[in-house]
Amino acid sequence: MSVDAAALTAWLTEFARLVETHRELLTDLDSAIGDADHGSNLDRGMKAVLATLEKEQPATPAAVLKRTGMTLISTVGGASGPLYGTAFLRMATAAGDDETLDPATFGKALRAALEGVVARGKAVAGDKTMYDALAPAVDALEGALADGQPFAEALDAAVRAAEEGREATIPMVARKGRASYLGERSAGHQDPGATSMTFLLAAAAGTLRG
Ligand code: ADP
Ligand code: MG
Repeated sequence: MSVDAAALTAWLTEFARLVETHRELLTDLDSAIGDADHGSNLDRGMKAVLATLEKEQPATPAAVLKRTGMTLISTVGGASGPLYGTAFLRMATAAGDDETLDPATFGKALRAALEGVVARGKAVAGDKTMYDALAPAVDALEGALADGQPFAEALDAAVRAAEEGREATIPMVARKGRASYLGERSAGHQDPGATSMTFLLAAAAGTLRG
C-alpha cells in the first residue's frame, strides 16, 4: 500500500467534502469560544485547494502537499490558515522526491505536520487546540505501524485517537488563540480546530487505506 499524488488528492477532496458538510458545526463551535469563522474559513480554503488541484494535477506527493499548504496560507484568514498551511508544507518537505509514500513515510510526514503546527503556534498538550487531536493521532499511527499493523488499521487507530483527543478538549481551558481570551469560560466547549483536524484524519482513513 502506497500513497501517490492521486491518492493524496482524493484525501484532500474528502477532507473538503467533510468540511463543507460540517461547516455549520465548525462555525457553531467557533461561535462559542471564538469568532464563528472556522467553518467558513476552512471551507473557503479547501474549495480553493480543490480548484487549483483540478486546474493542474501536480505530479508528486510533495507537489500536491506544497500547493495545498500555499493555497491555505493565502486564502484562509485567522489562526487556522497558517497553522494548516504550515502543516501541509512540512508534510511536503518530509515527502521529498518520492513518487509514492509508503506507510512509514506517510507517518513521518504526519509527524512533520504536527511539528509544523507547534513551530507556528507553540501549542502544547492540553492547550485546547488542533494539537490535542493531531498529536495523539500521530502517536497512534506510528505505534500501530511499529507493531506491524496494516496501514488501514493504523489509520483507524489514528482516527480513534484523534476523536478521543477532540473529546478531551471539551473540559480544557484554552491557552492559545482567540479562545484563550475567555479564560475559564472556554471550558465546556469542544475546540473547533481539534474537530476539523479529526475530519482530516477521518478523510485519510477513508481514502488512503488501499
Ligand atoms: P481564528 O481563531 O483566528 O478565528 P479559526 O477560527 O479558523 O481562526 O481557527 C481556530 C482554531 O485554531 C482553534 O480552534 C484552535 O484549534 C486553532 N488554534 C488557534 N491558535 C492555535 C495555536 N497557537 N496552536 C495550535 N492551534 C491553534
Ligand atoms: Mg475563528
